[in-house]
Amino acid sequence: MTKFTDFGLNASLLRAIGEAGYENTTPIQKQAIPAVLDGKDMIAIAQTGTGKTAAFSLPIIHRLLAGEGRRTPRGARALILAPTRELAIQIGENISSYIKHLHLKTTLVYGGASANQQIKSMAGGVDILIATPGRLLDLMTQKHIVLDTAEYLVLDEADRMLDMGFIRDIQKIIARLPVSRQTLLFSATMPASVEKLANSILRNPVRIEVTPAATTAEKVTQHVLMVAKEQKRALLAHVLKDESLRRVLIFTRTKHGANKVARQLNDLGVHSDVIHGNKSQNARQKALSNFRAGEIRALVATDIAARGIDVDDITHVINFELPNEPESYVHRIGRTARAGARGASLSFCDHEERAYLRDIEKSIRQPVPVFTDHPFHVEGMSAPAASTQEKPAAGRGNGRNGGKPRRPEANAGAPRNGDAARQKPRRRSGRGRRTQQAAA
Ligand code: AMP
Repeated sequence: MTKFTDFGLNASLLRAIGEAGYENTTPIQKQAIPAVLDGKDMIAIAQTGTGKTAAFSLPIIHRLLAGEGRRTPRGARALILAPTRELAIQIGENISSYIKHLHLKTTLVYGGASANQQIKSMAGGVDILIATPGRLLDLMTQKHIVLDTAEYLVLDEADRMLDMGFIRDIQKIIARLPVSRQTLLFSATMPASVEKLANSILRNPVRIEVTPAATTAEKVTQHVLMVAKEQKRALLAHVLKDESLRRVLIFTRTKHGANKVARQLNDLGVHSDVIHGNKSQNARQKALSNFRAGEIRALVATDIAARGIDVDDITHVINFELPNEPESYVHRIGRTARAGARGASLSFCDHEERAYLRDIEKSIRQPVPVFTDHPFHVEGMSAPAASTQEKPAAGRGNGRNGGKPRRPEANAGAPRNGDAARQKPRRRSGRGRRTQQAAA
């Protein structure tokens, strides 16, 4: 076990880390902290929940304290770029807790909130600026923020920033930073677009990979429930009868879909809320804090809105609709099983979504067992090629359990029937994948 005290970090920083309850490093911290302290550029494949925020911010804080640099008006010594306001806020909260015994200044700059306050908070300069690309570029263009003396740059969730179309903004921002900076890039996945960006902005980077997709997926007990599209609402009502689904994050592909599910939950009397791109910053924050506090049982979200949701103790992730990008599946189910806990995911798969399921299974390199013991199971709809079918235990007929929902995770043993796996998969057309993503 590597302890935070092994790195020779600043004593006040160590005190705050101790107060945050951290003692041993996570794998990414163990690798990243010494390399960043050494002044190296870094590319890290790591997902939320791995402790990546501390992995980059602790050594940067230490170096800011040890270095000669000083705050300059409208400037920042370290810039952390994040794809969403939610993630920026979370990073800000973490950093504020790490620097609470130090005289460092930090602030946030993101869209959807008044720019005036942000301009004011940047006037005297800060040590650490956490920002989303769009608003930052606006304020840089208006000369309210000047980053020509920045010493550190972190791109967090780079894959998602590119997915969201931020590449141009990011390039423009980086063009105004000094070349002699230290740059760290974090990404949950490493598609070619991220590699390309990394190659253009990192110098001899150390490469760290701590959570290949399969590893996260292994910590989550996953099941897929085959259901006709028009029965998904009834299935959702059915599974939510089980009270062990205590804190549930429900995903849809689109904002419209999220609203529909939220209305249904409301009709069912399930305390819930919804977050997506059309919700105001305040509404999103309120929904998140109610979810965190346990005041609402279910939170409905689209993929993009859910980025950076930092809520421990999510008992279940329900994919009301399967994502059309396998990476999103890993991101989604990774919201449960955080900080070493185990979690469960239930994916509702209709006929049309079977192709998505196949892509997902390829990506996570494992089949997702089919859970058949519910009243809406569609027998005729075979599992996709890679999938294995999980039969209900003896004496449990489909839907003949008196309407009492059964906990899928209780049945998570080895699949016993591979018949469906031998059926030929249908070909699919790849059309519409991007379009649906854009709608989220
Ligand atoms: P992150 O991956 O940065 O979103 O961190 C996930 C969660 O783990 C956050 O709530 C952190 O506060 C927490 N965390 C990070 N590092 C440690 C650690 N070494 N020990 C305990 N908790 C940690």
